Order: sequence, then structure tokens, then C-alpha cells
Amino acid sequence: MTIFQKIIDREIPADIIFEDELAVAFHDVNPQAPIHVLVIPKKPLRGISAAEPDDASLMGHLMLTAAHIARSLGVDETGYRLVVNDGADGGQSVFHLHVHLLAGRQLTWPPG
Ligand code: AMP
Repeated sequence: MTIFQKIIDREIPADIIFEDELAVAFHDVNPQAPIHVLVIPKKPLRGISAAEPDDASLMGHLMLTAAHIARSLGVDETGYRLVVNDGADGGQSVFHLHVHLLAGRQLTWPPG
């Protein structure tokens, strides 16, 4: 079981700022920007590469939830970045799909 499943199940604490029937969002414990939130599905998918066509509406829900949270945190005007890392070269370290919402500073491109 991943650490994010334990957060969903309330077995370990997290700073949860959003929850509905499909998703949970919480502040990243090691923030890379002034705002760094993770949006995760309750469905235990290993990553975006494990998503199937049947997961299309869930994937859309994660993106729209991230945009909703960005609005609620007041960064929709200044801008933000959504990131999904997948696999070793993508830098994924937790194998439960998550969308990073990064905001609150000028983000550079390309990422490292
Ligand atoms: P990734 O490298 O894309 O798999 O991202 C995993 C993210 O999860 C990293 O940004 C970590 O800082 C974050 N993280 C790991 N454990 C926790 C935790 N217990 N609570 C909140 N964020 C976490």
C-alpha cells in the first residue's frame, strides 16, 4: 500500500484541503513552490501510464479539481502549473497517480 492510500484512508495525517467521492487533495509535505498541492484519485492507479480509457472522466475530474483548487487559493489570475510525473525518468517517487499543482512564484521552463 502506498503512503497516499494511507492518507486517503486517514491512517496517516495530511493537510487535506479538498475531498469528494473521487479525489482528495492535500498540501505536499516538501513544497517546491509557495503553493504545492497534490490532487489524487481515490482509485489506486499506479500512475497516468496505468490509466485506461474507462478512466478518462476521472482523469478530467483530477484536472478540473486542480483548476478549482487553484481558483480557491487565489492563483488562477497569476498562474500555476500542473505536473504529472510518471516512472523513473519522470521522477515519480510515489506510485499512486497524483497531479502536482505548483504556484505562487515564477516557475521556470524547462523543468529539471
Ligand atoms: P512524485 O515525485 O511526482 O511521485 O511526487 C511525490 C510527492 O509526494 C513529492 O512531492 C513528495 O514531497 C510528496 N509526498 C510524499 N509523502 C508525502 C506525505 N506524507 N504527505 C504529503 N506529500 C507527500
